[in-house]
Amino acid sequence: MKTTHQKKAIIIGGGLAGLAAASALGEQGWSVDLHESRTRLGGRASSFQDKITNEMIDNCQHVTMGCCTNFQHFCKTTGIDQFFRDEPYLYFIGPDNTVNQFGSSLLPAPFHLSSSFRKLSYFSLREKIQIAKALKKLVGWKDDQTERLSFSDWLKQQYQSEHVIEHFWKVVLTSALSESLDRIALPYARKVFRDGFVANKEGWCMSVPVVPLDQLYGDVLNDWFNNHQVNIHMNSAIQNLEIHENKVTHAITSKGKKLEADEFIIAVPQTRIRSLFNEEYLNLLQIPEAEKLESASISSIHLWLDQPLMKLPHAVITGRMIQWIFNRGMLQSDQEDQTKPKTFYYQIVISASNELLKKTYKEIIEIAINELADIWPEMKQIEIIHSRMVSEHHAVISVTPESEKYRLKQKTEIKNLNFAGDWTVTGWPSTMEGAVRSGYLAVENILNHPNHHEARYVPVVKPDLPASWLSQIVFGL
Ligand SMILES: Cc1cc2nc3c(=O)[nH]c(=O)nc-3n(C[C@H](O)[C@H](O)[C@H](O)COP(=O)(O)OP(=O)(O)OC[C@H]3O[C@@H](n4cnc5c(N)ncnc54)[C@H](O)[C@@H]3O)c2cc1C
Repeated sequence: MKTTHQKKAIIIGGGLAGLAAASALGEQGWSVDLHESRTRLGGRASSFQDKITNEMIDNCQHVTMGCCTNFQHFCKTTGIDQFFRDEPYLYFIGPDNTVNQFGSSLLPAPFHLSSSFRKLSYFSLREKIQIAKALKKLVGWKDDQTERLSFSDWLKQQYQSEHVIEHFWKVVLTSALSESLDRIALPYARKVFRDGFVANKEGWCMSVPVVPLDQLYGDVLNDWFNNHQVNIHMNSAIQNLEIHENKVTHAITSKGKKLEADEFIIAVPQTRIRSLFNEEYLNLLQIPEAEKLESASISSIHLWLDQPLMKLPHAVITGRMIQWIFNRGMLQSDQEDQTKPKTFYYQIVISASNELLKKTYKEIIEIAINELADIWPEMKQIEIIHSRMVSEHHAVISVTPESEKYRLKQKTEIKNLNFAGDWTVTGWPSTMEGAVRSGYLAVENILNHPNHHEARYVPVVKPDLPASWLSQIVFGL
C-alpha cells in the first residue's frame, strides 16, 4: 500500500499569529509542533496573577470588532468564540458627562450609525456636518500623493476644529491604532473608518472576552490542538535555526535539542528574530529593515472597588486621559463562581501612553481617579480596595507613514521559511486580526508551494466583510 509522508511544520511563537498558523495547518492534516518560550499561550494578549487579589488579570482589555473576519474565524474554528460577548451599544461620555448610547439602526450601511451620530450630545450640528464631510473624503480617498501625510496634517487640511479632533477623530483612532494622530498614516486611518464603520453594517460590532485571556487561550484551545495533531511545547524557546542550501534544516531549542520539519514559521516579534540566525542571513531576510519599525505603548489601570461605580458594561471617554473603562466584574459575572463575593473590578485603558509614562504610576492612577470622580461624583464615596497599573511599552507597531516600507512579507528568501506576526505585511494595523491574518497568509504560502500543493489553490485567509451596495455608491468603494 502506498503511504504518503505526513507533512510536518515547526512554528516558533505561541502568540495569535503562531496559534492561527497552527490551527490552519492542523485543519489541513499537517503535524505541527509549536514552541513557545513562555509558560502560557497568547503572547501579548495574556493575563497574569495579581498577587493582592489572587485574580488572573489581563495585561490589558482586548476587544475585537465585526470587521475582524480572520480572528473570528480562528475563534470559531477552535471553539473559543464561546468566551466572547457581543456589545450591542457603545457608551460615549463626552465633556458634558452625558452618557450617549451609540448603536445601529435598521438603516443599511453606511447610514446604520447615522441616527446615533446625530444624537451625540457633545457636538453641534455644524460640527457634525464638518465630521461627515471629512469622513466622506477620507473613506473615498484614493490619492497616492497624500499617502505620506500624517493624519493630523490631513485633518488640518480638512478644517477640522480642535474640539472635533479631540472628541471624535482622536477617540476612534487612538483606541484602534494606539497612536497619536501625528503618527498615524492616512491609509490606516481610512481603514479604521472604512472597515469598521462605513462599508458593512456588522463591521463596528464590538466583542469582548468574558474570561481572562489565559482562559481564552487555555483548555478549550489546547483540546482542539490535541485533536488536530498540533503539539504545543511551552517553556520551549528556539535559540537558532540551521540553514543548508537555502533551506532550514533544523530548529535548535535552548536545551540544545535539534528539531526537523518540512516547513518553519517564525511567529515572534520582529525584535526577536535577529538572535535566531547567523549574521550572514540577516540582510537576506531584511531583518535590519523590520527592526526600524517603531512601537507604541498601551497602559491599563486596574481598580477593585467596594461598591459598583457604573451600571454600564463599558464607557468610551472622550477628551480625557482615560479613554475606556470596562466593567470587568459585570462582564465576567456569568462565568464566575457564584459562591464568591462579588467584586467590583474595573479596567481603564489608555492607548498611545508613551508620553504619559513620563509621570509615575501613582500620579497617573490619581489623575484617573479624579477623572472618574468628575464623571461619576459617587466615586468620592467609594473605597478603592486595590489598584495597579500595567504598561506594555512595545504593545503594537506604530502605523507611521514610514512603517509600511519596513513591514516584511510572510514569504522569505529561504525556501521553507515564512514569517508571521502583527508586524508583517497584512494590510492591517498591529491587532489580533492582523496577527491571525499573518499566520493564515504564512500557511497559504506553504499549502500552495509547488512542493506541497496538489491540484488547486487552497485559500486560507478569509475575505473582508463586503461593502454594502449603498456604501459603494455613496463612498465610491
Ligand atoms: C496592552 C495591549 C492591548 C492590546 N489591545 C488590543 C485590542 O484590544 N484588540 C486587538 O485586536 N489587539 C490588541 N493588541 C494587539 C495584539 O495583542 C497583538 O497585535 C497580537 O497579540 C500580536 O500577536 P503576535 O502573535 O503577532 O505576537 P506576540 O503576541 O508578541 O507573540 C509572539 C510570541 O512569540 C514568543 N517567542 C518570542 N521569542 C521566542 C522564541 N525564541 N522561541 C519561542 N517563542 C518565542 C513570545 O513569548 C510570544 O508569545 C493589544 C496589545 C497590547 C500589548
